Amino acid sequence: MTHTSAFPAFPAGTILGYPRIGPRRQLKKAVEAFWAGSVSADELEATAAALRQSTRKRLVQLGLGRDDSSIPESFSYYDQMLDALSTVGAVPARFAHLRGADGHLDLAGYFTLARGEGENPPLEMTKWFDTNYHYLVPEIGPETEFTLAGTRLVREFEEAKAAGFLTRPVIVGPVTFLLLSKPSDEAPAGFSPLDRLDDLVPVYAALLQRLRAAGAEWVQLDEPALVSESIDIPRTDALAGLRFAYNTLGALAERPALFVAAPYGSLDDALPVLAITPVEAIGLDLVRGSVPAETPGLDTTTLVAGVIDGHNIWRGDLAAAFDTAAGLVRLSPRISVSTSTSLLHVPHDVDDESALDDDLKTWLAFADQKVAQVATLARGLSLGRRAIEIDLSAASAALDARGVAPGVHDGAVRVRADALAPGDFTRGAYAARVAAQEMALGLPFLPTTTIGSFPQTGDIRRARAQLVRGVLSTADYRDLMRAEIRRVVSLQEDIGLDVIVHGEPERNDMVQYFAENLDGFAVTENGWVQSYGSRCVRPSILWGDVSRPRPITVEWSAFTQGLTPKPVKGMLTGPVTILAWSFVRDDQPLGETARQVALALRDEIADLESAGIQIVQVDEPALRELLPLKQKDQAEYLDWSVGSFRLATAGAAAATQIHTHLCYSEFGVVIDAIRNLDADVTSIEAARSRMEVVGDIRSQGFDHGIGPGVWDIHSPRVPSVSELTDLLERAAAAIPATRLWVNPDCGLKTRGYTETVQSLHNMLAATRILRARL
Ligand code: GLN
Ligand code: ZN
Repeated sequence: MTHTSAFPAFPAGTILGYPRIGPRRQLKKAVEAFWAGSVSADELEATAAALRQSTRKRLVQLGLGRDDSSIPESFSYYDQMLDALSTVGAVPARFAHLRGADGHLDLAGYFTLARGEGENPPLEMTKWFDTNYHYLVPEIGPETEFTLAGTRLVREFEEAKAAGFLTRPVIVGPVTFLLLSKPSDEAPAGFSPLDRLDDLVPVYAALLQRLRAAGAEWVQLDEPALVSESIDIPRTDALAGLRFAYNTLGALAERPALFVAAPYGSLDDALPVLAITPVEAIGLDLVRGSVPAETPGLDTTTLVAGVIDGHNIWRGDLAAAFDTAAGLVRLSPRISVSTSTSLLHVPHDVDDESALDDDLKTWLAFADQKVAQVATLARGLSLGRRAIEIDLSAASAALDARGVAPGVHDGAVRVRADALAPGDFTRGAYAARVAAQEMALGLPFLPTTTIGSFPQTGDIRRARAQLVRGVLSTADYRDLMRAEIRRVVSLQEDIGLDVIVHGEPERNDMVQYFAENLDGFAVTENGWVQSYGSRCVRPSILWGDVSRPRPITVEWSAFTQGLTPKPVKGMLTGPVTILAWSFVRDDQPLGETARQVALALRDEIADLESAGIQIVQVDEPALRELLPLKQKDQAEYLDWSVGSFRLATAGAAAATQIHTHLCYSEFGVVIDAIRNLDADVTSIEAARSRMEVVGDIRSQGFDHGIGPGVWDIHSPRVPSVSELTDLLERAAAAIPATRLWVNPDCGLKTRGYTETVQSLHNMLAATRILRARL
């Protein structure tokens, strides 16, 4: 007897989720207007409802079924973890006053958890698996009360039904919800949020029954935490939790059919556990993960083959995707197709890009194109491969054309990369470099500097917008930027900073700026993706071999150096960060692409040196972010990522001082990598943790120059001289004073001038106090 027979079949094709922001960022605009008070809660709800309805219609147009549960109800006002939190009423004690009847949060309360209020900090935000999406971290303790406090998911299902759509509600599953939570402030030592699974599962049960009563046939529970090793809970506990949760939910009398999705990797040892629970369908990520072995229990489960990459923007090999999905019949007679992850990570629609090259467009698939691909594969699964042969060949033809298109393979770039030798990745001995740099730069003890950008004022942004629209000529734009640089340089001289920056006024974004100036990249008009909450980014598309047609930053840096006798620090974005914050080609290993970017940067550094620049900073804030989830993949990643940084910088003369900036402060897992970058000076974030990180730096024997940030630039607060002196003393206690630099935590582009000037003055005052003492 099989347990699936009581339920309608899982749809032949589906997607795990769809972008929520709207093709023109309608949701972002409405939400921000609500925050600003210019739009009421009712108006925001109405905008969101209209957006959901147009999404459903669009998905039907693209080939999903109107009444077979293939449309996921995956909307969120801010974040899916926050949604799950408000569904189960798990509001942290410091926000208890926001809870209404039965623990319900209204829209304003919901956003308050995300944004904080007064002295009450918001929930912490952290990266969602190996994506650029960030989720809010629930805080769970023994005191957390779980109750079905939010029924928005039920209402949205009913809203769809009333409009004639039988959709599939989506929620983060209970195991992932707890695995991604952190212990609350009230929790005793040794407490783990997963300890509360017994109390949480009944709330999910109640939700499922409500959805069933409303008419839902299938519900999707996302359990991506099961594919990740980077979670501190013992694996056996996580697996036991999984078994308990789905045996319990599966045993409910009146419930919808359960679809458990596991995007972002392979389930590995979690699959046999899940396979013998009563769950009716399991979603496998067959892009990041691989086809599993035969597993007891799978043959009575629908396997939802995640073969369309939800993570990138390539049209890809549709025939291979079809064959992978069809091959799963070995494991189960019931096969469906889907995306590997939610489409949340890709922009809406390639056809909305009028300025992109026509050939390039045929190689791409954004969310809408991927939905159509899923629909095609679903048709093939039901009618046989022949029925979709035309579509498969069209995709293969595009792929073949891409393979030989001009620019995808650039002979000169390839020859140069192939000829690289170990010596190209190594600078001379550090001690010799220190001596040469001391002589060349003559910097004082405890040198002071900033991380690169100065406040981006409205005037700067306006000038850039006018340049893009053609209202401002290139020459006029350059004059405006030069005037800005003059101001920023004389400000730094007045304050007394030792190493000067130009302030980066000409950059829209630290990655896009380089993408626009390198061959092999394309920039989109509407290719926005959600980064967190209402924040969206527009990554560039790295589609071909990368080269530098002409110097990029040299003119700006040389101009700046002409304004001051003090050393000016050239400012570049590193290869790993350029890759991490772009959509990257999928037809060669990332390491190869990174090497091409590195060679372009290497040439830029050489040109900066020729133009008289003696210090160059290569920012790598994303080094840590791209670290693979599975430990077994980390060594290879660190090898190419660190290698590409070294390749970019190793051509510099011994007397040229190479800096790097890494945004984060946890040195831990990547300490060896940071050491291997072999930068002369590394600046990191340290103010918020009150210099906690300097202990690690010393105990790990990091002996190059280091600038632990003393000013937390994430808020407009001005640190006092005594506070800064105290932080510097802590740093000096752990780090030899000859290696210690004084700088803020990060760039100042989001700050205002008032706090910038005061804080930098205070930073210099504290430095003078310390210089006198040491
Ligand atoms: N140089 C960049 C800036 O100052 C670094 C930004 C970053 O690390 N995110 O803005
Ligand atoms: Zn930073």
